[in-house]
Amino acid sequence: MMSLADIRQSFRGGIRLNEPLASYTSFGVGGACDYFFEPLSSGELPGLLRHLGAQTMPFILVARGCNMLISDEGFRGAAICLERGCGGVHLRGGVDEERIVVAGAGARLARLIDFCVQNGIAGMEGFAGIPGTVGGAVTDPEDRSFLPLVEEVELVRGGEIMKIIGPGLTLRTGPEARDVILSVTIGLTAGKRDELLRGRRNALLRRNAERPLNMPKAGAAFRDPPGRRATDLLRDSGCAGMRSGGAVAAESHPNYIVTSGGSRAADVAALLRTMQARVRERTGVGLSLLARPVGFHGHFPEEAG
Ligand SMILES: Cc1cc2nc3c(=O)[nH]c(=O)nc-3n(C[C@H](O)[C@H](O)[C@H](O)COP(=O)(O)OP(=O)(O)OC[C@H]3O[C@@H](n4cnc5c(N)ncnc54)[C@H](O)[C@@H]3O)c2cc1C
Repeated sequence: MMSLADIRQSFRGGIRLNEPLASYTSFGVGGACDYFFEPLSSGELPGLLRHLGAQTMPFILVARGCNMLISDEGFRGAAICLERGCGGVHLRGGVDEERIVVAGAGARLARLIDFCVQNGIAGMEGFAGIPGTVGGAVTDPEDRSFLPLVEEVELVRGGEIMKIIGPGLTLRTGPEARDVILSVTIGLTAGKRDELLRGRRNALLRRNAERPLNMPKAGAAFRDPPGRRATDLLRDSGCAGMRSGGAVAAESHPNYIVTSGGSRAADVAALLRTMQARVRERTGVGLSLLARPVGFHGHFPEEAG
């Protein structure tokens, strides 16, 4: 049992025990964590992480959970949510056409995009329609679109706040994250508001057509393999509409698993495995998981230790 009295000496944010994590994920399934921390500001993170380290308590970051599948048994450790304490977006400056924006890791991408569009800043509008937070987007190890715009990352590593400056910045991330991202500084340019509004609208329309954004509980399943689209491979292999318990591969977008009340993480996990096996059998392609499994104790090879 962890001593919360020690943590309370330097941590004024929210602390909850046995917090259910399902509502922090887009699949909407999964069990509880032992401890849940909601810092009031980024300054509270180093002390909290040092305490967790001293108690050898594993931790995960929970953001919007668009890329996370938590097991029905939940997570034996701590979950940290940065939306409240690190959710701001502001303009730091810029010269001539340049605009420098700083976004907290807990800020939703939609908020960052709105901020830029409202302030005549170009470069983010094409991301409209991607759910999740800045922290979640920047830690995606295979993301080739968002990270290149990032000039500087403020993070906690080894219990200390530090800054990593790009290009080529390397983050140590994973379901049991080692680096905790606090904010990112993004180099953008000035833009015309009407063009930005149009760009945002077009991106939204495109993603709405490609993905079931209207389905309240839909988690993305597999990465696109090189030169192929996972959704096409799944459709061609007959996975659209495939079901396991309360989890269904969306008919229109089979790379998204739709869950309903009563669905379990075990249903989602079984469906993911069946779909993976079906695609391998029919096409010879091995799909890798986009959703990061947490708390499955090695039942998924992709799960980080
Ligand atoms: C319906 C749907 C449509 C999508 N469409 C797209 C799309 O078009 N394009 C696209 O690129 N992606 C898409 N995605 C994927 C998803 O939106 C992104 O990967 C998203 O940015 C993840 O953010 P999150 O806040 O949900 O992260 P989470 O899933 O909560 O977390 C992801 C990982 O990041 C870690 N993490 C989160 N915050 C931090 C932090 N501050 N420090 C360290 N580690 C952290 C977590 O521990 C976890 O391992 C889609 C997802 C869904 C569900």
